[in-house]
Amino acid sequence: MEKEIILEIKNLCKYFPVNKGLFKKPSLVKAVDNVSFSIKKGETLGLVGESGCGKTTTGRTILKLYEPTSGNIIFKGEDITKKSEKEMIPLRREMQMIFQDPYASLNPRMTVGDIIGEAIDIHGLYKGKEREERIKFLLDKVGLNGSHINRYAHEFSGGQRQRIGIARALAVEPDFIVCDEPISALDVSIQAQVINMLEELQEEFGLTYLFIAHDLSMVKHISTHIGVMYLGQLVEKGLSDDVYLKPKHPYTQALLSAVPIPDPQIAKNNNRIVLEGDIPSPIDPEPGCRFKGRCPKAMPICQEKDPVLKEVENGHFVSCHLFD
Ligand code: SF4
Repeated sequence: MEKEIILEIKNLCKYFPVNKGLFKKPSLVKAVDNVSFSIKKGETLGLVGESGCGKTTTGRTILKLYEPTSGNIIFKGEDITKKSEKEMIPLRREMQMIFQDPYASLNPRMTVGDIIGEAIDIHGLYKGKEREERIKFLLDKVGLNGSHINRYAHEFSGGQRQRIGIARALAVEPDFIVCDEPISALDVSIQAQVINMLEELQEEFGLTYLFIAHDLSMVKHISTHIGVMYLGQLVEKGLSDDVYLKPKHPYTQALLSAVPIPDPQIAKNNNRIVLEGDIPSPIDPEPGCRFKGRCPKAMPICQEKDPVLKEVENGHFVSCHLFD
């Protein structure tokens, strides 16, 4: 049976105005520019790209932590784009976020029990003994101990804090979670443990993830589909294996060539693509392909005409004039 689409993003834009002077028209930082994708229930879309490419802004705009400039966010068949903060309250229970920094995202003055219990209280889900049992159950699910309930965040390691952050997101029984670089701040030895745990939780609770990361190898491990972003735009998307094993966009090829290979013999023969030039400013971007200044395959047409995302193989989309 075909899985249902839980989230659909259509032509999503998030622009931030930048004032240049009292009498000048403000410029726009086009942090997210015309991004479209969908995620089916129980699946994971991995969103990758360098720092500043707009992936975190995309995640936050989907959750309406930022107001979208234009486009549509359709969650479980309902267009939530124009919903007010008040109308979003019941949806906050269904759409959660795991933050990148497990140090900054947990209140140091609250106990673990209160951090996890806060959203339970806001949504009036459990009270008294049941609330305590629920928190202990969640601590157990993320590999911590129920006896940790009265401890403070500073008493835990980075990996344990991220587990607390995951328990907090799970507390309200969400269907969809934006995982915003949840492993980037963690020690390499801990990263795989947290990824495996997220996969187990996904299986057990039927969760759907938007998994944001800059590490393509980790994204491949957890994702059913991968989307690659460059300067606010989606430049390639498709099934995880297709994008990882047969990358088509020159930027994806460069990103993949930078993934470390543990075997020194294989690594020696790996042709790493070193991108020349600087990442251009996202303020009022020039016409043409945004990657043109760094692309080893740039052609004259790339200077003037914006490429559009199109299907080049079954379910594999690329935005590049090489595929016109
Ligand atoms: Fe390179 Fe041109 Fe393709 Fe952009 S459109 S990625 S500049 S070949």
